[in-house]
Amino acid sequence: MASSTIAVTPTSFILNKKDLGFSAFSTRSGFSIVKCRRTIFKKICSVMAPQQSERKPSTTGSVKTGMTMTEKILARASEKTQLIPGENVWVNIDVLMTHDVCGPGSIGIFKKEFGENAKVWDREKIVIIPDHYIFTSDERANRNVDILRDFCMEQNIKYFYDIKDLGNFKANPDYKGVCHIALAQEGHCRPGEVLLGTDSHTCTAGAFGQFATGIGNTDAGFVLGAGKLLLKVPPTLRFVMDGEMPDYLLAKDLILQIIGEISVSGATYKSMEFVGSTVESLTMEERMTLCNMVVEAGGKNGVVPADSTTYKYLEDKTSVAYEPVYSDEQARFLSEYRFDVSKLEPLVAKPHSPDNRALARECKDVKIDRVYIGSCTGGKTEDFMAAAKVFLASGKKVKVPTFLVPATQKVWMDLYGLQVPGSGGKTCSQIFEEAGCDTPASPSCGACLGGPKDTYARMNEPMVCVSTTNRNFPGRMGHREGQIYLASPYTAAASALTGYVTDPREFLQ
Ligand code: SF4
Repeated sequence: MASSTIAVTPTSFILNKKDLGFSAFSTRSGFSIVKCRRTIFKKICSVMAPQQSERKPSTTGSVKTGMTMTEKILARASEKTQLIPGENVWVNIDVLMTHDVCGPGSIGIFKKEFGENAKVWDREKIVIIPDHYIFTSDERANRNVDILRDFCMEQNIKYFYDIKDLGNFKANPDYKGVCHIALAQEGHCRPGEVLLGTDSHTCTAGAFGQFATGIGNTDAGFVLGAGKLLLKVPPTLRFVMDGEMPDYLLAKDLILQIIGEISVSGATYKSMEFVGSTVESLTMEERMTLCNMVVEAGGKNGVVPADSTTYKYLEDKTSVAYEPVYSDEQARFLSEYRFDVSKLEPLVAKPHSPDNRALARECKDVKIDRVYIGSCTGGKTEDFMAAAKVFLASGKKVKVPTFLVPATQKVWMDLYGLQVPGSGGKTCSQIFEEAGCDTPASPSCGACLGGPKDTYARMNEPMVCVSTTNRNFPGRMGHREGQIYLASPYTAAASALTGYVTDPREFLQ
């Protein structure tokens, strides 16, 4: 199945459209590919960003060589007109994010290298988000949040999403939850910019046409003081996804398909650019799911071209001017992969690797102990809406404990406030309660990363779990012998209803 749904052109650089490969399922001709590219170009022309920045575009003057989106963003941020993959350049950073796990270490390095009384380079470009180990009595974890708070007060950091009352997250209006979703909801993800974060899933923000990637504490300590970082320009892999998305698939299935195809090292230090009619039809939250897991293939970053969907999402979230960029027609891609999405089926990644792909229906004999719906990958509002749709369609109760961890406070409120389409006015929380799920937990990373022993829904026993998270390495959600099947919210909900890994078509068709 895998090899028949994809075509790759592994030329060192795609310079000639005739060299492009085709999906075995695709009925497109070479002419169609040219047309597809023109479509993208037309889209750029017809959809303007709501604001334009005064920054100079990187391609003023004659363009010698076409550049990809990622190359163009890095060129502008390094004040160059032309970049090629492999070049090392000093990049000016638009946003630096850190959280409770890596923030204290980054702050320590900043103070050691820049001085105890040093000031950060820009108090308005630093975003600090406690989210990982929050609802725990672990003193060291709690202390980490205190360190963030002290630093933010000392430096007068503008964006600090604090939590003081751990007993009731709702008593903390500033508290958000999982950093990558909070960054988007609070308007810190903007097309054409550079966002760095001390978390590997910072790549999620590529959904906004932004260069976003994870960095270590040492680099973050340097950025805190200098506002720039030396980065190597990655080459770009292009993923073209066309075809109508079946209503039993979600973006999680698409990215599991891709990772299964190219492996967990298939995009090492490469940019992954997602285009095509299917990608254009995805919501922002679904595009975030797609970009969230590029790091599971080793990707440096993922990007989706900004369009009217992006601008609409940003309308009420930021007043900062931004300037989207797009790959040139003549841009050089290391490889191009093409998918006919209409032919794909619901997938899982079996233990213990995100590239251990299988069809959900092939795993129907795998008995499970629990289901977990949450995280930056699968804990967004639309993820819970998708799960609720399956529960609603079945009218049944879950057969295994089903844990729900909203990514952010806003997602939590949506579960209690938004009506699920076709439900006669019910909210997600009502549908979950009727299905016998656990009550939605306080928003945070929860058990996605295991966390301290008292973390909600942590796998303290060697159980089998279907999870909407992004990693299934041994010990990832707690117990070293736990088995994690990564899946979409549809598949997770369907599995909860049967107690086995289950293809959601059993309930959605
Ligand atoms: S939800 Fe999981 S993957 Fe996402 S930032 Fe938190 S621990 Fe990392």
